[in-house]
Amino acid sequence: MFLESAPSPEKCLDLTDTFAFSCRKDLACFNTCCRNKHLPLTPYDILRLKTALKIHSDEFLSQYTVYSLDQDSGFPIISLGMGDAPQKACPFVTPEGCRVYNDRPMACRLFPLGRSSGISRGSMTKEEFYYLLDIPGCLGIDEKQIWSVEAWQDNQGLLPYTEINDRMLELVLHARKDRTKPLDESQLQKVMVACYNLDVFREFVFKTGFLELYEIDEKTRSKINDDDTALLNLGFAYLGRALFL
Ligand code: SF4
Ligand code: SF4
Repeated sequence: MFLESAPSPEKCLDLTDTFAFSCRKDLACFNTCCRNKHLPLTPYDILRLKTALKIHSDEFLSQYTVYSLDQDSGFPIISLGMGDAPQKACPFVTPEGCRVYNDRPMACRLFPLGRSSGISRGSMTKEEFYYLLDIPGCLGIDEKQIWSVEAWQDNQGLLPYTEINDRMLELVLHARKDRTKPLDESQLQKVMVACYNLDVFREFVFKTGFLELYEIDEKTRSKINDDDTALLNLGFAYLGRALFL
């Protein structure tokens, strides 16, 4: 998650550090971890999930998410809404496992690891830490299969998630943002549309004077027309200009 704080130094794992883990259907804990979770979604998580579910981003947000505001950054936090008590199950868990497995969120891919990332103000140098989560009841961590953090990143297809998430982080830590004030309603709305409600952002880009105002060239127009990830990257660039100038 882009706003997590760094773990204590003794808990940090380097890319070459190793841990034991294997998750299998025949473990007694199968599916128990997919409930009662606070699971913040990144913009790329939402892009992948709404695409996998073949629904409009607006529908995804209203049907599957819960909105809150991060007190530190003033940015919105969009979390996956869990089902009713007592199970409070993730809406995507089935007796067979995760029904959006190929497009599961970054936090689910990272598990049993957590990731904390930040960018030093001024230098814009990226720092990232991985660490083992405290997960009572998970039998997978007693299994024999050994992973390095790097191999786990690869195996779980994490790189596009972390890359795009770090762009979000750059925005949150934008050097020109006045950190003494929360985002106002207009800024919040811009973040919600450009980061999380991509189908509405697409309409805004193509059906207003946006392309001309921001002098978007033909090559970029064609790319964002075909590719939601390119559109999301345009959203970050737009917010960098529209929020803080
Ligand atoms: S998205 Fe999938 S892996 Fe993640 S909590 Fe829900 S069911 Fe589990
Ligand atoms: S609790 Fe751990 S081992 Fe069990 S299903 Fe969840 S991730 Fe896999």
